[in-house]
Amino acid sequence: MGKDKDLYPQCAMCETYACMSSLKTGEMNPGEKPDFCPLKVKPEIIRHSVEEYKKPENHAMAYTSAVQEFQNYEWLPGRKMRTSITRVEEIMDFAKKMGYRRLGLAYCAGLRYEARLAAEIFGAKGFEFASVCCKCSSTPKEEVGLSEDQKIRGPGTIEIMCSPITQAILLNDAEVDLAVMLGQCVGHDTLFIKYIAVPTTVLGVKDRVFGHDPIRALYLSQGPYYGRLLIEEPYESEVYPYKEHGRYDDLSGAKGLDSD
Ligand code: SF4
Repeated sequence: MGKDKDLYPQCAMCETYACMSSLKTGEMNPGEKPDFCPLKVKPEIIRHSVEEYKKPENHAMAYTSAVQEFQNYEWLPGRKMRTSITRVEEIMDFAKKMGYRRLGLAYCAGLRYEARLAAEIFGAKGFEFASVCCKCSSTPKEEVGLSEDQKIRGPGTIEIMCSPITQAILLNDAEVDLAVMLGQCVGHDTLFIKYIAVPTTVLGVKDRVFGHDPIRALYLSQGPYYGRLLIEEPYESEVYPYKEHGRYDDLSGAKGLDSD
């Protein structure tokens, strides 16, 4: 039995944000919590989850990340506020506060220039540093079942698969204190997260169109070109479903791994 959709939290559709206070006034936002508000619909989950922050294994990180958030803002004369540090600095700041000495970068080979820059910065600031590129297993894509016509450069070419599980296991083996993700593909990042055994944060995410700034697509959905993202119709793509994964079987035009 599926869950009743009406009970899903829908914070993204909220008009009041009555759960939070205003950065400007320091007072709770006015207004009613909507009917889909998890504070109304799932108060027991909220209560239970807040207790989790107090557990010994979570408290240091909960406290430190809240302090880190505080330190991202600074006050100028006249009670003017501004943000103060970049994400690169924030990662180092958080690591220092948590006592993490060894950082481990898992990155996409397409962002190797950026990975080198990150390595130089983290190294210059005194962190021990391990880094693993996504192609680290040097294993052809055929190993996971891709056919010749599923290669980006076409049949007969050599294409090395991304190996996020290998990246994670190598970083686990290097006993890094904090893993830092940089630009892995969608799905590869998911597998990395599944296998990494240490606390993990994100420096950058891949977007092959928007210079690794995927949120731009959200902004541009308000304009004429990417407005198509808001047209109400099921998302259509040339789907290559996993052959034993029944979920996409009913999509028209789907092309399975068995078809080649
Ligand atoms: S928690 Fe409630 S009040 Fe806050 S954003 Fe979600 S729905 Fe709105």
